[in-house]
Amino acid sequence: VFISIEGIDGSGKSSIKEGILSFLQDYNPVGVREPGGTFISEKIRELLLDFKNSSITPRTEAFLYASSRSQLVDEVIRPALEAGKIVVADRYIDSTLAYQGYGRGLDLEFLEMLNQLCTGGLKPDLTILLDIDPEIGIKRRRGKKEDRLEGEGLPFQEKVRAGYLELARREPERIKVIDAGRSLEEVLNDALAAVSLFLQG
Ligand code: C5P
Repeated sequence: VFISIEGIDGSGKSSIKEGILSFLQDYNPVGVREPGGTFISEKIRELLLDFKNSSITPRTEAFLYASSRSQLVDEVIRPALEAGKIVVADRYIDSTLAYQGYGRGLDLEFLEMLNQLCTGGLKPDLTILLDIDPEIGIKRRRGKKEDRLEGEGLPFQEKVRAGYLELARREPERIKVIDAGRSLEEVLNDALAAVSLFLQG
């Protein structure tokens, strides 16, 4: 079973991921984050951090995220799934569509092709979309971790959020939207309910 967690900056993805991992601990789940999760993918993450303040084009950026994902799929996600494990990913293919597509304006069909190529068509079974007002997200983020690829302020985050919601409308079976503007406890409860429902069904 492959579960991904998506959402804009400050939506609480990493806390919810940790919550889901401990909820599923009896199954020995595998947690990963994007970009990163393998030696090579973490190197690509460092490159992306380095390039953030230079004039990297959206297409180049999309290819770097795709390279990182390609390595993560081959080295970690696919082998884990083949061994029957549950994988929980902080970001995956929908981040590419939301950020590089709806956020930066790259063609969605091109990005879908890129996602298909870098994953060999591997899609999550369940995606939890943590939806939050970017203003609240930005406030939450303030003063936290600096090993981060910062997004660009409110208008950009608004576009990405709207993109995510559009993706959820297109694939309501896979993508479950959760209101992340509440307490961590409430959000986690809803996330765990979605995971349980999926595992039972
Ligand atoms: O490490 P974290 O997941 O918090 O990184 C979030 C940032 O990474 C976003 O604000 C965004 O700038 C960037 N990102 C991106 N395109 C992706 C994935 C992440 O621009 N496909």
